[in-house]
Amino acid sequence: MRIETHLAQIGTKKEPKTGAINFPVYFATAYEHIGGVSTGFDYTRTANPTRQVLEQSIAALEEGDAGFACSSGMAAIQTVMGLFSQGDHLIVSLDLYGGTYRLFEQVLSRYGLTFSWVDLRDLSQVEQAIQPNTKAIFIETLTNPLIQVINLEEICQLAKRQQLLTIVDNTFMTPYLQQPIKWGADIVLHSATKYLGGHNDVLAGLIVSKGEELSERIGFLHNSIGATLAPLDAWLLMRGMKTLALRMNQHLANARELALFLNQHPLVEKVFYPSFDPEGRQILTKQARGFSGIFSFRLKDENLVRPFLEHLEVISFAESLGGVESLITHPATQTHADMPDELCQKIGICGRLVRISVGIEHIEDLQQDIAQALKKADQIIRRSGLS
Ligand SMILES: *Cc1c(COP(=O)(O)O)cnc(C)c1O
Repeated sequence: MRIETHLAQIGTKKEPKTGAINFPVYFATAYEHIGGVSTGFDYTRTANPTRQVLEQSIAALEEGDAGFACSSGMAAIQTVMGLFSQGDHLIVSLDLYGGTYRLFEQVLSRYGLTFSWVDLRDLSQVEQAIQPNTKAIFIETLTNPLIQVINLEEICQLAKRQQLLTIVDNTFMTPYLQQPIKWGADIVLHSATKYLGGHNDVLAGLIVSKGEELSERIGFLHNSIGATLAPLDAWLLMRGMKTLALRMNQHLANARELALFLNQHPLVEKVFYPSFDPEGRQILTKQARGFSGIFSFRLKDENLVRPFLEHLEVISFAESLGGVESLITHPATQTHADMPDELCQKIGICGRLVRISVGIEHIEDLQQDIAQALKKADQIIRRSGLS
């Protein structure tokens, strides 16, 4: 089956008793041992029928061996981090989700884990960062918020040679566009709150693992830590995922148009979109099916940022991504506010950077909205003598 078919058919033909096309929501937390024998379901934290359909679906979509649904993307990351012990070291994408940075540096560092923040586009930097106690490489690609492309095959090969696990946060791409396990990754993570859910209405995280032993260890952690996804949320997520292919196609087409539009706009200094970065473009063309629906751009003048965000009429100034509605985020004060200024500067996250998650609205409405908001912002700063 092609991935579009897989997606549309999530949860079908799984309920022979009634033939329900959508798998039902099992709210029961406890399951009777009929005749003294377990049905395979005992207690909902360990296994829930609705959640299990979702877990099997994401495992198939990512071409892994097991799937685990968690109460949020952060819960999924925390569960996977349970694989590591005091004294272990990880190599991590320098440019990545601010919440992951916060979990690693402000929480897990207290448990004796250490992290090296490395530009994973440069293999020699990765090699140099490897220590005797290094256990894994944690990759986000596309990176957040600078939309850099990391070569999955190269990093996975290096990790295998050094016997390190490769963990990929695939939130920005989804299995529709990129399947990291195919390139050698051991674990794929998702904030399913974003594209997989797709409607800005369910918080969820997913883990997919490759290999029997690793899957067993993560299964143990999933049940032991207990940050599992509620049955109704699992059902909502599956409903969202059924239309992933359709939505992604529209996100991609709109993002491309908008990136081209902003790239020639006089108030925009630089657009961070893979198509404008020859090396990133080449890697993505090989390892993925498209360029995602999210990109960032830097305005010429920091004073433009506030009035620009305030005058948007269609697009919302809000902190998230991947839903059908277009959202604009200001990384320096929102998603990456907990990253130290020094690190932000090193990476290139400045006050003039804005990130847009392009929705599935009509492209002309999005383009007009951005054009009018930029025009008003320009007038305002000219009038106030700020520019
Ligand atoms: C949002 C996000 C997360 C965290 O997921 P939540 O569902 O908000 O807990 C992790 N990684 C990336 C890339 C994200 O965008």
